[in-house]
Amino acid sequence: MKFCNLASGSKGNCSIVSSDRVTLMIDNGLNIRDLTQRATGENIDLRKIDAILVTHEHSDHVKGIASLVKKYSIPVYCHKESISGLDAQATPYLWEQDMDMPFEIGDIQITPFRLPHDSNYNLGYRLSDGKRSISIATDLGSMSESIIRNLSGSDLIMLESNHEVDMLRQGSYPFMLKQRILGKNGHLSNDECAQSIAALAKYGTKRFVLAHLSQDNNTPELAFERTARELENARFTEGKDVFVETAMQYKSTAKIILD
Ligand SMILES: [Zn+2]
Ligand SMILES: [Zn+2]
Repeated sequence: MKFCNLASGSKGNCSIVSSDRVTLMIDNGLNIRDLTQRATGENIDLRKIDAILVTHEHSDHVKGIASLVKKYSIPVYCHKESISGLDAQATPYLWEQDMDMPFEIGDIQITPFRLPHDSNYNLGYRLSDGKRSISIATDLGSMSESIIRNLSGSDLIMLESNHEVDMLRQGSYPFMLKQRILGKNGHLSNDECAQSIAALAKYGTKRFVLAHLSQDNNTPELAFERTARELENARFTEGKDVFVETAMQYKSTAKIILD
């Protein structure tokens, strides 16, 4: 399987997961021009996208979907609770699917699982071709045993490392927004992400991608350092036993190939 993140953060999210036979896009908050440019840079042919999986209806995850599916006629898999957040022009492309159950697209087995977030509904996804598995969990206010269970054993996990708590508390956001982000249905902090990754490394995952970093309340260096330190405490060396990359807002990660 292959993984590539084309954009990550509150201004737009988009990831690509592919197997030998199928290419899936998870979320698209990029406009068609930026999306095309980044996909081309990673040798991804947008005409070959077999389906789009939606995590939730917040605009940074869905605002680019309508123009993309109109151009390339791609089926959209979206939980019924999140459909109201999609542009009406995307609705003819909605695929009827119970998103609370595992299902298959080609050779990829898809297991959706619920994440706590202040949207109508939010899904993480575990995607497997029977040999390898890739899991994605962004926009979650808190980690739980059941989320860890859904992620554990994946070959690659993209997990949100949204903010550094002190930066957020001392920063310029309005009080209500700070409370929202810090709440159980907000976003995952660097420390919560780092602790979760150390736990997941014990279950055997070797590749992690830190995602949805706040531009105002985090830095890539800080997010990385928090995770590397927690891994070290759990006796894993980043770059040797476990590999951590950071997904960015304005550029794509290199394609990660799991063979
Ligand atoms: Zn988001
Ligand atoms: Zn969100």
